[in-house]
Amino acid sequence: MNSNTPVVDLRSDTVTRPTAAMREAMAAAPLGDDVFGDDPSVNALQDKIAALLGFEAALFVPTGTQSNLCGVLSHCQRGDEYIVGQMAHCYRWEGGGAAVFGSVQPQPIAHQPDGTLALADIEEAIKPDDPHFARSRLLALENTLGGKLLPMAYVEQATALAKSKGLARHLDGARLFNAAVAQAAGAGVVEAQASTSPGSVRAVFAQARRIAQCFDSVSVCFSKGLGAPVGSALCGSRDYIARARRIRKMAGGAMRQAGMLAAAASYALDHHVERMAQDHALARRLAEGLAGIDGVLVEAPHTNMVFVDLAGPARAKSQGLIQNLAAQGVLATGLYRLRFATHLDVDEAGIDRAIAAVRRHFLG
Ligand SMILES: *Cc1c(COP(=O)(O)O)cnc(C)c1O
Repeated sequence: MNSNTPVVDLRSDTVTRPTAAMREAMAAAPLGDDVFGDDPSVNALQDKIAALLGFEAALFVPTGTQSNLCGVLSHCQRGDEYIVGQMAHCYRWEGGGAAVFGSVQPQPIAHQPDGTLALADIEEAIKPDDPHFARSRLLALENTLGGKLLPMAYVEQATALAKSKGLARHLDGARLFNAAVAQAAGAGVVEAQASTSPGSVRAVFAQARRIAQCFDSVSVCFSKGLGAPVGSALCGSRDYIARARRIRKMAGGAMRQAGMLAAAASYALDHHVERMAQDHALARRLAEGLAGIDGVLVEAPHTNMVFVDLAGPARAKSQGLIQNLAAQGVLATGLYRLRFATHLDVDEAGIDRAIAAVRRHFLG
């Protein structure tokens, strides 16, 4: 790749840079020492996200990983277990933190093709009260999961099942707002209205709250599709968040003048939620553009992630694909499957270059 090659970075929606307006909001943020509870911008963000999702309280944390860690450890004691999907971030992608730091055992369950955990599998995984077993304490779901929107009826059923068995319910909603935008669009709200209409963003917030209210705790990331540089929030009851605050301190996540970061997150909630519909449209454009190459199997995206599996002739040609795309200025990841994520810093031209580069690799 020479220095004139334009780059479209589709590795993750975490790669965005703050916009000029977001930087202005960060620079203007009133600050204090948040460990003393003195940072007005952190306090305002925590109040805003808690109210938006319908919780008593929220805690601003540096990362989604720490948010999930505080989230799980505020529900579970040593010797408890949480029931979780095999591919869930808070099981697979966080270094085993709940087990390492909290002596909390994960009980992973295989996903159904739509990303859900079968209700029968959840029920079977819940252990009887018997000294042989860890205490089943928590069900952790993720929405979106691998870019997939979990069906609302499923979320209601799974969380109702957990509640009926005495389990607490945690949502890893790193991409909750992508889920809410997709759910609102599915209900015909977002696409039917002008993209900047206040009614439309209210409809997205209503869907976010509807999902969140099935859970006792919800973690959201500001550093993914919302486009803030850093930060996540954990939401829950006042008592629960007080426990999480202690764990955040132990984990080294209690920051001082964190209001500059909270201001970016707050700006994102005000300005970057509804626009995620554009990211979803770009993902659809990419999926459509990649269709029809022999052996390139493209999953229809619900939100901002396009997953591609390779079979037959395409699989035989997959050697060096990621490097070849990178040489053409198209960055993607291929850890389990080939993945492209759209976000704030991607436009149609970038997507079209990505389509052309993939087609050139397999057909050129
Ligand atoms: C990114 C992500 C996290 C962790 O966020 P970090 O800020 O990268 O630690 C947690 N859960 C999901 C689903 C994520 O995508």
